[in-house]
Amino acid sequence: MNASHAGTLLWAILAGVLLGIACGAWFGEDMIAVEWLGTLFLNALKMTIVPLIVAAVISGVSSLGDVRRLGRVGAYTVLYYATTTAVAVAIGLFVVNLIEPGSGVAELSREVPESVASREPTALSDIALYMVAPNLIAAAAETQLLPIIVFALLFAAALTTVGTRGEPVIAFFDGLNETMMKIVTWIMWLAPVGIFALVAAQLGRAGGGAAFLAEIAAVGKYVLTVLAGLALHFLFLFVLLKLLAGRGVAYLGMLGRALVTAFGTASSSATLPLTMECAREAGADDRAVRFVLPLGATINMDGTALYEAAAVMFIAQAYGYDLGVAEQTIIFLTATLAAVGAAGIPQAGLVTMILVLTAVKLPLEGIGLLLAVDWFLDRFRTAINVWGDAVGTAVISSTTFERHGHEFPRRED
Ligand code: ASP
Repeated sequence: MNASHAGTLLWAILAGVLLGIACGAWFGEDMIAVEWLGTLFLNALKMTIVPLIVAAVISGVSSLGDVRRLGRVGAYTVLYYATTTAVAVAIGLFVVNLIEPGSGVAELSREVPESVASREPTALSDIALYMVAPNLIAAAAETQLLPIIVFALLFAAALTTVGTRGEPVIAFFDGLNETMMKIVTWIMWLAPVGIFALVAAQLGRAGGGAAFLAEIAAVGKYVLTVLAGLALHFLFLFVLLKLLAGRGVAYLGMLGRALVTAFGTASSSATLPLTMECAREAGADDRAVRFVLPLGATINMDGTALYEAAAVMFIAQAYGYDLGVAEQTIIFLTATLAAVGAAGIPQAGLVTMILVLTAVKLPLEGIGLLLAVDWFLDRFRTAINVWGDAVGTAVISSTTFERHGHEFPRRED
């Protein structure tokens, strides 16, 4: 997609969001009637995910040449994920300690949401077990991305060791990757209408503008705290992008379509195909795009990590618990894990929050306090999740590939 098309599409998607907010606020529940348009868009994106990820990871990793280089790129990538997620949680804890949004909200209703009540707490071993699927087809059928990526990594690593007999296989996955990316550029044109429908229907379901504003006002300080934290983390990542990759506003502009789509869909997995296309168009190294983004979309969730820490502290404050350094350290560690374990789907973070709440012995009912506004905050944290992955791609492109004698074109904005 050329730059002028990309610009037009970005404006169209933004207009879709604004129109969606206006119609949802004004017409309320009537807008649920257009939801199918949003579902159609989401389905189209989801349709591409499994073949795209398999092809992208296999062709991306096998283009690295040998397994040792994969180790090096992998180590840098994991270092980036771990550092930025830790910073996100720290920012979450910082803003929530500073603003203390939880004091004085105790009178709100508390119920354990059904999606949460039926879940067992996630243990560390669950996350490890989830990474290796006994049945790949079943994992693909349920769009469980992490086990698929683990298999694709293994497959690609093996492929680089079998010499000339592996070459046609690599060529096949290269071709498949290109073809899937082409389909994604076509689906992108559905985004303005799809996102309009998703936003309008969601706001309609929340009862329209007046009802939703009343919900927000009830926990307004909490909403502001989370948004302030996410904004700070956005800036932190932007500085990182500038310092480590020499990129800036132009890169952000190119990623705009993916970020607004993340906001519109509240799903970083569904947005992944668009994120890959946008990062590629923005000039990130193709190998980084094919490796860092799929992995990042499943395990690197800065917005979710920040949110989990802030939300749990908010619940503690609302119940009048005074959590000290020891408990906050536990929150720090478990929020990071909960974000890794969260799937890139709407409100997944709300469910993995059980891990954090149980670790510091807070009542699960506390989640009821967040329920009314969670879908709204979810959209912002999903956009930050995608931004974290996109910045990571630029950083790995420029630090790893450039440093090791590859030809990554460092474009100045
Ligand atoms: N909706 C988020 C995502 O898809 C996950 C979450 O925080 O609930 O990235």
